[in-house]
Amino acid sequence: MTTSYPTNYREWLEKLVGFNTISSRSNLPLVHYVRDYLASVGVAAVLVPGEGAERDTHANLWVTLPPTAPPPSAARPLAPVWCSGGLILSGHTDVVPVAGQAWTTDPFRLTYREADRCYYGRGTADMKGFLAVVLALTPTFLAMPRRAPIHYAFSYNEEIGCLGVPYLIRYLQKVEVNGKPFTADGCLVGEPTGMKVNIGNKGICMWEVKVRGKPIHSSRAMLGTSCNAIDYAAQLVMKIKELAIAIRDHGHHDERYECPFACVTTGLISGGNAVNTVPEHCSFSFSIRILKREEALQLEKDLQAYVEATVLPEMRREFADATVDIIRGPNFPAFNGDEKAPFTQQAMHLCHVQKTGTTSGGTEAGFFQETLNIPTVISGPGEGRYIHLADERVSVALMDQCMQMVKDLATLLTSAGKQGNL
Ligand SMILES: [Zn+2]
Repeated sequence: MTTSYPTNYREWLEKLVGFNTISSRSNLPLVHYVRDYLASVGVAAVLVPGEGAERDTHANLWVTLPPTAPPPSAARPLAPVWCSGGLILSGHTDVVPVAGQAWTTDPFRLTYREADRCYYGRGTADMKGFLAVVLALTPTFLAMPRRAPIHYAFSYNEEIGCLGVPYLIRYLQKVEVNGKPFTADGCLVGEPTGMKVNIGNKGICMWEVKVRGKPIHSSRAMLGTSCNAIDYAAQLVMKIKELAIAIRDHGHHDERYECPFACVTTGLISGGNAVNTVPEHCSFSFSIRILKREEALQLEKDLQAYVEATVLPEMRREFADATVDIIRGPNFPAFNGDEKAPFTQQAMHLCHVQKTGTTSGGTEAGFFQETLNIPTVISGPGEGRYIHLADERVSVALMDQCMQMVKDLATLLTSAGKQGNL
């Protein structure tokens, strides 16, 4: 029996939306389907899983459509060995939850409405619409004579802190092509921009702080025989606020963002087990949305110094075994693209825009630009106003525009007939 695979972006979008890939659920059914489709057209995909519990339930997918034509210089080796360079098309396979949202359509069944000429469903905008475009263009890519490769980088669990893509990046860092590290000429991250071109987003770094004191009945609280974990955690929270204000007033500013500085917030706290007991434990979490990695490292250093110089000595006067642990949690790099880079200019030209923008939330773009040093832009058919909400949608007009743009970009970067455009 042969499976009949989708042949256009609408059919692909219908298929992809039908896989419920909320981050907590496995993305393997989707990834295996895409892998099997690619195998049916003669392309081998690599599955790159993570570690721990998600190893059996989630995977990134990496695909290379190798060059078909000899590269321009005779000194360069021929395909398929030469698979560095070319264009990366990047997107995440997971979507955000739908619980508690008032959908007027089934979020996991694609619905088309003529009234606004939009496709409705979870992930249509963020960002299965882009994946559908890439997959629908696969036969076109395969039919093009290519002097450079086209790569697909489909990740998992982007929505819960870019947890999947670091494994793919590590995999790519280990790849060597003729003794040289893997690289590419450009990376298009198809996150929602309404087909505008964005070249920046903040990164994030999160920490959990665990404070351990000594419990006692509250009637004996102030006798110097206990150590109140909540009190000291509160002291740390206020120190974090002081550091946050200093970063706001004196730190690096980038006026392209609505919030132009790195913002620091304590977002969670829990401690104690009864109002009449001096608490032994208190833990809280805080984060910084960074413009530069150094800002996160400095904040961590400043807080650690305060713990060692001020908080711990005070705590240990009351309880010798008191501890404060600052544990670094999920983090991903900021994305600072280059408007003057030829790749950005090409993307702007193909999107018919004169200026670039920034994305307010996080994306995976920083991994490609900062970690792998590959020129990167964000542009995709979804629109920010529809994402993560009930009745998420993407318009036919923007899907059509994305098809044309991705096809033209791939042609410019990889076509055998158009060398030297970049
Ligand atoms: Zn997204």
